[in-house]
Amino acid sequence: MPHQASAPVDETPVIDPSEAGTLPILIVDDDAAARGLIRMSLLRAGFGTLEAASGEAALAVLETETVGVVICDVVLPEMSGIDMVRSLRRRAETATLPIILLTGSGNDDTVIAGLDAGADDFLFKPARMAELIARVRAHLRTQAAWSHILQDELRVRSGVVHALGALTLSQVPEETAVAVVTELCQRTANAFVSVAQVTDDGRMQELATFNPRDGVQQGGETFPADLADYLLGRARAGPWVDEVGSRGLAEPTSSFRKANLDLVASAPIFTGDDLVGLLSIGAVADDTWSSRSRQARLLAAAIDYASVLSAVAGSALGGRREAAGLRTRLERILAAQEFHTVVQPIVEVETRKIIGYEALTRFDDGTPPDVRFAEATRAELGAAFELAAIRMAIAEVGQLVAGAFLSINISPRSLIEQADVLREILLPNGRQFVVELTEHVPIEDYPELRAAVRKLGDHVQLAVDDAGAGYASLRHILELKPSYAKLDVSLVRGIDADDLRQALAAGLNYFALRIGCRLIAEGVETQAEADALRRLGIDFAQGYLYGHPGRAADFALASGLR
Ligand code: C2E
Ligand code: CA
Ligand code: CA
Repeated sequence: MPHQASAPVDETPVIDPSEAGTLPILIVDDDAAARGLIRMSLLRAGFGTLEAASGEAALAVLETETVGVVICDVVLPEMSGIDMVRSLRRRAETATLPIILLTGSGNDDTVIAGLDAGADDFLFKPARMAELIARVRAHLRTQAAWSHILQDELRVRSGVVHALGALTLSQVPEETAVAVVTELCQRTANAFVSVAQVTDDGRMQELATFNPRDGVQQGGETFPADLADYLLGRARAGPWVDEVGSRGLAEPTSSFRKANLDLVASAPIFTGDDLVGLLSIGAVADDTWSSRSRQARLLAAAIDYASVLSAVAGSALGGRREAAGLRTRLERILAAQEFHTVVQPIVEVETRKIIGYEALTRFDDGTPPDVRFAEATRAELGAAFELAAIRMAIAEVGQLVAGAFLSINISPRSLIEQADVLREILLPNGRQFVVELTEHVPIEDYPELRAAVRKLGDHVQLAVDDAGAGYASLRHILELKPSYAKLDVSLVRGIDADDLRQALAAGLNYFALRIGCRLIAEGVETQAEADALRRLGIDFAQGYLYGHPGRAADFALASGLR
């Protein structure tokens, strides 16, 4: 299958090369007799003709007519022949139109100026008509050859566009790469195709490959470092071709070696300005080998398919690398312990006596803790971060009042998955712990969560965080019957002046007390809020009114310990 000749999608020729022969020749000369002489010769040779007596008139003709060749006198009234050539070259439609200039003077400067302006050819007057006809024919032949190449090229490219439309897009870059590689080796008779991604540590790894021995394969090897460096260095500068053996690819990958290549064209895959991958296509020399045109075609295919890949897989590759980058950054923060614990007192509302401290984490780079824990969860490092924060808290609060509990935060998922580890961390060394269940997402498996809590031991009590912030927290309270529920700051803020908040807090308190759960009001900032809480019968509170979160050592000093 792979070595099949390309399957053309559209057989309709884009430009009919035979048409070039039937196009009229435009003769531009202010001398009617000279025009007549050339016209007669051309007609005899089987060409059609158009005529113009000035440069302006010629430009007007070319606005509406398509011609095969322009034959133009250099010396014209008003616009010179050379100026006319310049303005034709500026227009896309006539940029490659063959132009033969005729000059009466044997002046080299005129010849040079004409060629500089973009003329293709030159004849001195009086021109031998046989030579003029021969040159017209030669230019038409070249044009026809070009249009053949162009037509082939356009056909291949329209195939690419078609393939892009037909590809089943996948969010998984490997799958998209397989689809593109399969497409590419079926559409063109290439000996080797490789799609590689740039990993976040600057290495390159294959997503999909094709070689005649193994066929199309998903995944692949990581390139040796110096090969990756070479490829990435070149890719940043754009697509290129390597002649194998002569330079560059001195150390090809093994899937590459199996293909026994002579030429490899490579093109970068981008998302925005980020280089995220590389597409390489390899070819073996054969009898139809014409090095230059083979190189051009290979390169064109690589560029086309790399842009297909940029469109369909670029952002997924970029996103993956970003995720890997985030993970690397987070792992570094964990390893270097770039965070510390602060504690905030939890008090009895009536007496202001401290009953416990909540441990909160501060990251050295200033990232808010809820943001950091959320990104850690996205990078599959949620539990690692939460456990590290708890270890840090326990290491840092050794000097705090023995009679108070230490309240730590953990997500239900980490608690379930890491119950045994947490049990080891929270060993009963005479200290009481409270575990605050963060997150407001519904929990599916309450029995499992209850079992995890029981594992921790009798010296560990349970709290449900942010009660009243959503329905899930009420469900947690009902299902888990925790020792504490933390009344969310959204219910506490301004509670002294708000009947509705008071009613809600009172109802929640009543409901909690019925199951032996005591409320801790969060975020209490004013004495008025504290008084309102006391009137509602809420026992405990936490907030700036009683103390900002601070280093454990500062609290120990303030309380006269140490
Ligand atoms: P949270 O557990 O609800 O923590 C209470 C938040 O309210 C803390 O924000 C605290 O600094 C802030 N706060 C305390 N008193 C007041 C007050 O009077 N007024 C106001 N406006 N705010 C007050 P923080 O430290 O930024 O933590 C935010 C969230 O990040 C925490 O919410 C918790 O969900 C999470 N978090 C913090 N540290 C940890 C940790 O070590 N582990 C886990 N799993 N989550 C943590
Ligand atoms: Ca909390
Ligand atoms: Ca809270």
